[in-house]
Amino acid sequence: MHKQFGTTAALAGVDLALAPGEVVALLGPSGCGKTTLLRLICGFAQPDAGSIAIAGRTVADDDTWVAPEHRRVGMVFQEHALFPHRTVAANIGFGVAKAQRAQRVAEVMALVGLEGLDARLPSQLSGGQQQRVALARALAPSPHVMLLDEPWSSVDAVMRETVRDDIVRLLRAAGTTVLLVTHDREEAFSLSDRVALMMDGRVVQCGAPEDLYLTPTDRWAARFVGPGNFLPGTVDGAGVDTPVGAFPLAVPAAHGCPVEALIRPEMIVLRPTDDGACTVVGREFRGHDVLYRVRLPDGTVVCAQRPSTESVAIGARVAVEPHRAPVAVFARSQDR
Ligand code: ATP
Repeated sequence: MHKQFGTTAALAGVDLALAPGEVVALLGPSGCGKTTLLRLICGFAQPDAGSIAIAGRTVADDDTWVAPEHRRVGMVFQEHALFPHRTVAANIGFGVAKAQRAQRVAEVMALVGLEGLDARLPSQLSGGQQQRVALARALAPSPHVMLLDEPWSSVDAVMRETVRDDIVRLLRAAGTTVLLVTHDREEAFSLSDRVALMMDGRVVQCGAPEDLYLTPTDRWAARFVGPGNFLPGTVDGAGVDTPVGAFPLAVPAAHGCPVEALIRPEMIVLRPTDDGACTVVGREFRGHDVLYRVRLPDGTVVCAQRPSTESVAIGARVAVEPHRAPVAVFARSQDR
């Protein structure tokens, strides 16, 4: 799918399919086209080229245009835009035919845990409750797919995790297919079945969170989804030898090939020992873990992450050992 704004290609050939009931996170830096893609799916804008099908029905292509209200797409965006002078029940029942309204409103209110609040006005609710009303309103017409554009970003940091976990749990319980936008990789990893990583209007990789983290498609994707060391290595059979030890390969590569191996910080084990060949030169305490900067004998400084129960002081001599997790490798000439 393509969408151009003047000279900007907001979408430059996006191809994405969601299975029924699947939760997919659209992850990418600011301006990569995430919101544009959601706007095309819900029908707020038209693609320049390409097609969109929802539950097997084409809703947009060169010859077809289905209006937003007939696509059965639910949306919960950052600003939840509830009708301020309507009650919770009236807000939720807004898009439902009159004959089913009372029953459907009661059902979704129970589903999202808003029982007993039907006569309140939005201003008489907490931020988290307002967010659930917005979710209930989007769910009430039984959408085929639900689009979430960081709906929890206005909720304070303390509440955010609970609100977002609740929302996704409720949507999973309802069996709804979900496409959620985020630029927070941990959020994408923890909430979704698959992550579609976008850059410059394209999906550069789509897969399970573990796949994106352990076998990213290129260096840019590797860096975007988490910190890592790119260390020179040589492929040796089913493994790769690096300055911090040998690791199994996540994906086969040609024997003897010079590569750069992606070693995530938690894949490097530190063993304090007076005759260790490496030195701890930096230490960042982060609560449940500590990020160390460790200088290797050849002068290279690597980043290692260890549980805070394994504390090592700056200046300590350590031996580094590989945690034998499979690692991805990249051709040394690849520069992105
Ligand atoms: P963010 O995470 O910051 O919300 P995003 O990934 O959602 O970003 P989009 O809002 O989809 O990105 O924008 C993609 C590109 O298209 C950006 O370069 C943006 O400036 C441009 N763009 C989006 N909407 C318009 C518009 N109506 N007119 C012109 N350019 C637009």
